[in-house]
Amino acid sequence: DGVGEGDAAITSGPVGHGSSHDAASRPVKAAFVILTRNSELHQVRASIRQMEDRFNHRFHYPYVFLNDEHFTDEFKELTTSLASGETFYGKVPPSMWSYPTWINVTKADEDRAQLEKSGVPYGGSLSYRHMCRFQSGWFFRHPLLDQFDYYWRVEPGVQYYCDVDYDVFAFMARNQYKYGWTLSLHEYSETIPTLWDTTRRFMEKYPQHIVDRNSKDSLWNFVTEDNGASYNGCHFWSNFEIGSIQFLRSQAYLDYFDFLDRSGGFFYERWGDAPVHSLAVAMFLDKSQVHWFNDIGYKHEPFTHCPTQQEIYKKCHCDASENFDMDGFSCTPRWLDVVQGTV
Ligand code: GDP
Ligand code: MN
Repeated sequence: DGVGEGDAAITSGPVGHGSSHDAASRPVKAAFVILTRNSELHQVRASIRQMEDRFNHRFHYPYVFLNDEHFTDEFKELTTSLASGETFYGKVPPSMWSYPTWINVTKADEDRAQLEKSGVPYGGSLSYRHMCRFQSGWFFRHPLLDQFDYYWRVEPGVQYYCDVDYDVFAFMARNQYKYGWTLSLHEYSETIPTLWDTTRRFMEKYPQHIVDRNSKDSLWNFVTEDNGASYNGCHFWSNFEIGSIQFLRSQAYLDYFDFLDRSGGFFYERWGDAPVHSLAVAMFLDKSQVHWFNDIGYKHEPFTHCPTQQEIYKKCHCDASENFDMDGFSCTPRWLDVVQGTV
């Protein structure tokens, strides 16, 4: 693939940091991962500033920036200058950001035009589809992530509201959590007409990968309310994710991604990486492996997670009246029911 072209060139940040911040000196190998464009420099800097102020000034975890184009020197300089950990900049190789050979491009063009008319966000956007497919199946296979075991996904222009004074990555490792999230909600069903049926066919083909759905530890009921007949659209909002890279590189996850990719739905429909990750979590992980980071207040427009318990809220600066958790469009109530075993 294109990784060998020098396009995946690994560039350490131009501003050096002391060796005490090097990956080798930390107990957990982890990094923030930010897929972004040069044009989002300001919003990326705002996210880094808050991540540093709320969390990373204590821990100095590195940042990995990924882009389907080359980052500019300005982008590198002005992001490294805010980061207290090492910075790495990588170009996504074309092999991870293009149509697979089996896609019928004419059909993809037509289907996009159709979805654009229906007014669904990004319905007509091809770049959005490449982005969703990359975030679903490829970011964790970018060579810059080879050296890490955990990632925290960060997006431009998000807010982190609460002081996080413990090492979140060490917490993930110690508890053997594979996936952590903060906001959950329902997907627009127009974007995923055949995702559920495709997932069910995958499950029939690969039963060995699936957690026993009758087990009390199964997360299956988070994504279905009729015993698997249909998808309720519930997913973890993937613009915030703290996860295990090894989980995404597992045979189960790779088989699932390949199965989905072959069916063409990333292009003919508009499958998001959030429902894809979430369905994988619901199939392959059990309750004890997934953590809701209630204590990490967060906003990605237009939704906010603002912790309501006074003890946690004291360390946060979000507007509690904006908390989305109990909104009708939120899936967090469903999550709580599932982990408490009431459904
Ligand atoms: P939304 O959160 O679903 O509204 O989508 P965003 O526009 O925020 O995109 C999700 C993430 O992917 C963000 O971190 C973007 O910066 C990034 N992203 C989206 N499209 C592209 C693209 O074409 N190129 C690059 N390099 N990054 C992209
Ligand atoms: Mn976004």
